[in-house]
Amino acid sequence: MTAPDPRMRWWGWGVDRDATSLPEKARDMLRQAFSIEDEPAPPVDLDDVELGEPALPAEARSGLASIVGEDAVRDDRLARVGHALGRSYPDLVRLRAGDASSAPDAVVYPASHEEVQAVLELCSAQRVAVTPFGGGTSVVGGVEPRRDGLAAAITLDLARMNRLVAADQVSRTATFEPGCTGPRVEELLEAEGLTLGHFPQSWEYATLGGFVATRSAGRASTGYGRIDELVLGLRLATPTGTIELPPLPATAAGPGLRGLVVGSEGAFGVITQATLAVKPKPSVKLNEGWVVDSWQAGCEAFRAMEQAGDASDVCRLSDEAETALNAAASGHDPPGPCLVVVGWEGEADDVERRAERSRRHLEAAGARALGEEAGERAGRNYFAGPYLRDELLGMGVLVETLETATTWSRLQELYAGVGDALRGALAARGTDALVMCHVSHLYRSGASLYFSFFARQERGAELEQWRAAKAAACDAILAHGGTITHHHAIGRDHAPWMTQEVGELGVEAIRAAKQRLDPAGIMNPGKLLP
Ligand SMILES: Cc1cc2nc3c(=O)[nH]c(=O)nc-3n(C[C@H](O)[C@H](O)[C@H](O)COP(=O)(O)OP(=O)(O)OC[C@H]3O[C@@H](n4cnc5c(N)ncnc54)[C@H](O)[C@@H]3O)c2cc1C
Repeated sequence: MTAPDPRMRWWGWGVDRDATSLPEKARDMLRQAFSIEDEPAPPVDLDDVELGEPALPAEARSGLASIVGEDAVRDDRLARVGHALGRSYPDLVRLRAGDASSAPDAVVYPASHEEVQAVLELCSAQRVAVTPFGGGTSVVGGVEPRRDGLAAAITLDLARMNRLVAADQVSRTATFEPGCTGPRVEELLEAEGLTLGHFPQSWEYATLGGFVATRSAGRASTGYGRIDELVLGLRLATPTGTIELPPLPATAAGPGLRGLVVGSEGAFGVITQATLAVKPKPSVKLNEGWVVDSWQAGCEAFRAMEQAGDASDVCRLSDEAETALNAAASGHDPPGPCLVVVGWEGEADDVERRAERSRRHLEAAGARALGEEAGERAGRNYFAGPYLRDELLGMGVLVETLETATTWSRLQELYAGVGDALRGALAARGTDALVMCHVSHLYRSGASLYFSFFARQERGAELEQWRAAKAAACDAILAHGGTITHHHAIGRDHAPWMTQEVGELGVEAIRAAKQRLDPAGIMNPGKLLP
C-alpha cells in the first residue's frame, strides 16, 4: 500500500495503545469544581460520521492518479475523515459529534518534490484547493480544507516524503523531506550521532514540514532555538514554480526570503525539503524540579537567568493553579506554590557547569530544589497531556490552550489581562473557569505565556462557548502587548486578528506575495490571511 492510513485515532489524539487516564482524584476534583453530572459522552462511530459525497471532477482525479499513482489517491471514509480537521478543541468537538463536513474530496500522497510540483500545477489549472498536511496536529484550524468557490478540495498528505536527504557532519546540518515525524527525525539523526533537539508536545505525530510551516517551538527551545532559528535552507513548490534557498549560515541578500517561507502555513506552496542546524547528540540530559514562592518571583528569576546568559535549555515555570492541577493529575500533592522545571543537555562537564550557573539564579529568588525525580516526572507527563484532553472532552469539560509572548516589562500585565478575559467571558455565559499558565520559552527581551483553561462544557453550544472565550482572550492578548501567537501559528482561528498584529499594509504585502506564487488561490484557502 503506497498510501498509509491516518496515524492518529480519527476522533482524537494518538493511538489507543498509548492512551493514559486521569487518576480518579483529579476527575472528581474537576467534576466537583464544574458541577458536572453528565455521563461521559464517547465519540460517534466512524460509520455514523457525516460526510458529503467526494466531488473531485473525474478529469482532476485521473490527472492526480497519473502523477502519484492510482494507489496514492484515496477517497475512502477513513482517509477523508482522518484529514477533515486538525486537533484543536473545536476540531475535536466536531469530530466526536460526527461532523466531518469539511473533509477533502480526496487525499493525495506524493512521493517527491517533482510530484508535488506537478500536483500543484494541475490543481491550479483545474481550480482545486490544496491543503498541505503533515501530522494534522494543527490547533488553529490550519488543516481544515476550505473550497472558497473552487471546484473541489484535496489534502496533500506528505507522509511518504520521509527521508533524510543529507547530513553534513562538518557543518552540522541535516536536510530532510517534510513528512518526517518528530521521532523519525531523531531516529535518522541518531544514526549520525546528531539531534535536532526539537520536542514540541505534539512531537510524536507532528512533522518537520509542519514545524517549519508553523514556526513551532519545542520543550528545549530556549536552549536549542525555535525551529525558525534552525532553518538554513528550503525548497518550496508553488503553483507557479519552485523557490530554492540554499543552506547558508547567514546572508545579507536582501529581506529574508527564508522568513517568508518559514511560517507560510501552506498558503504559498509546499515545503518539500528543509536544511536545519543540528547538534551532536547529548550524552547527558539533566532535569530538575524546583519550587518558588510566587509566580512573580519565578518570572524574575527566569529573566535574570536569561539576561545573564545562564538559562537552562528547558525552562518552565507553572503558576499556582497549574502547579496544583498538574500535581492532582499525576496523583501527588503540590510541592509548593509554583513549580519550576529546568533541564540541560550536552556533555557531562558542560551540563554540570551550566546547571550550576542557572541554579544560582533560582537560589537567589528563594527557590528550593526538589531534585531530579520531580524534573523527570514533568518530562514523562509531557506527552500524556493530549490523551487526558480526550478524556476530559468525554467528561463534558471545555479544555483549551492558547499561547502568546511579550516583553518582560509587560509580562505580568499580559498574564493578568488574559486570565481576566477568559474568566470574564466564561462567567458571562454562566460557567466558572479554571485558568492556569506557564512560561516556557525565554528570550533576552521577553518570554512566552501558555494558558490552559477549563470549564463545564455548554452541551449543545460547545462551539459558541469556545468562540466567546477564544475571542475575549485574543482581544486581551493584543490589548496587553502580546503577539496573537508565539508558536501555534495563525491558521483559521487567529486570522481575524492578523490585521491588528501586522497592520493593513502588512497584510496586503503578504497577500501580494501569495498572489504571485498562487494566483488561482488554491493553496490552503482561508488560512493565514484574514
Ligand atoms: C496536543 C498538542 C500539542 C502541541 N504542542 C505544541 C508545542 O509544544 N509547540 C508547538 O509549536 N506547537 C504545538 N502544537 C501545534 C502543532 O503540533 C504544531 O503547529 C506543529 O508544528 C504542526 O505540525 P504538523 O506536522 O502536525 O502540521 P499540520 O498540522 O499537518 O499542518 C500545520 C500547518 O502547516 C501546513 N503544512 C504542513 N506541512 C507543510 C509543508 N510541508 N509545506 C507547507 N505547509 C505545510 C498545513 O497546511 C497547516 O497550515 C501542539 C498541538 C497539539 C494538538
